[in-house]
Amino acid sequence: MSTAFDVAIVGAGMAGASLAAEVAPHARVLLLEAEDHPGYHSTGRSAAFWSETYGGPGIQPLTTASREFLANPPEHVSDRSFLSHRGCLHIADASGEVALDRLLADFDGSDVVLEPRDRAELEAALPQVRPGWDRGVYEPSCADIDVAGLHAAYLRVARRAGAELVTDARVERAERAAGQWRLETRAGTFAAAVLVDAAGAWADEVAALAGERPLGIQPYRRTLLQVEVDPPAPGDLPLVVDAAERFYFKPEAGGRLWLSPHDETACDPCDCAPEELDVARAIAGLELATDWRVVRVERRWAGLRSFAPDRLPVYGFSDSGRGFFWCAGQGGFGIQTAPAAARLAAGLLLGRADMSAPDIEPSRYRPDRFAS
Ligand SMILES: Cc1cc2nc3c(=O)[nH]c(=O)nc-3n(C[C@H](O)[C@H](O)[C@H](O)COP(=O)(O)OP(=O)(O)OC[C@H]3O[C@@H](n4cnc5c(N)ncnc54)[C@H](O)[C@@H]3O)c2cc1C
Repeated sequence: MSTAFDVAIVGAGMAGASLAAEVAPHARVLLLEAEDHPGYHSTGRSAAFWSETYGGPGIQPLTTASREFLANPPEHVSDRSFLSHRGCLHIADASGEVALDRLLADFDGSDVVLEPRDRAELEAALPQVRPGWDRGVYEPSCADIDVAGLHAAYLRVARRAGAELVTDARVERAERAAGQWRLETRAGTFAAAVLVDAAGAWADEVAALAGERPLGIQPYRRTLLQVEVDPPAPGDLPLVVDAAERFYFKPEAGGRLWLSPHDETACDPCDCAPEELDVARAIAGLELATDWRVVRVERRWAGLRSFAPDRLPVYGFSDSGRGFFWCAGQGGFGIQTAPAAARLAAGLLLGRADMSAPDIEPSRYRPDRFAS
């Protein structure tokens, strides 16, 4: 068996990589990744967007607290911002009116800026908008995220601080004895005092193989397409999202769009692929709201968004007393919340309350909220 670590993190996607970067300056960290390159699953398949309203008021404090790090990263992380400004336009036809009102109500009195838009303003922002889409809400603070850059930066910072990354190392057995976890992988056997479950869609599976109680973390498939449209889409379009959740799209280089049917199909953890029906729904959604004609589907992919039963992420030690720490359930917001979530989780793991942002309430994310 190789040397013992203080902390073994299972999963080197955004959750595991960001946590490793925060913990490595304070402890000996091992990062175990099943695939031959980290980021192969959800992290490499996202829509790469930062929106304060996304995920609702329970997620917003983590998103807001992540903004400064993403916009102006510390010197040792990057000399470039991970964000580029792109507003978000929530649009509604008759079936989205209620959802649009709920959005405004949810963030009423908060610091999140939401600006109502009438039909004329929608037409100015989105000339292709079809009749019947009469109301919108503009969220100006949103941005595109350089996901690959952020993930690579976290891995680099973690390694510089001494963390060891082992790929092709799916944890197949995890046993606890004499205050240590013994972890068996294809790449060897490792020992660590604390086991962190940052396994994304596989979080419940990893818990079960470690003899811990799964929390009901459920993966859902989400589809994205890159489409060529006629006429070409202007690059300065906002991200446009249907308040009734039938589609969203944002511009991509060369007049293309990234387009999603906003699908959410429960499935087992896997290397998922798009279904034809979801591809067709995405195109139907775009054509419902705009006059754009889809000329060609250039790329299509799907990934898993994994949620706990209450749709909030899970950060903290399980109540088993066996050194099992949850860092899971990042749903559709695991990139935009990564900086604040990693600081919060690192603080809980290391017993350092000073690490988390002051306006984040850790108790709402504790695993024991699901105690039976
Ligand atoms: C289509 C789509 C669009 C999205 N858009 C956005 C967006 O715009 N903004 C945003 O913030 N978020 C978005 N998300 C969500 C975001 O991608 C996820 O929340 C985030 O990537 C989760 O990171 P993770 O590290 O938990 O999961 P993953 O990236 O899946 O990493 C988990 C890792 O654990 C590894 N693993 C599993 N089991 C084991 C094991 N036994 N041993 C070792 N390793 C193991 C896996 O191989 C995997 O690499 C989107 C997701 C999808 C699918």
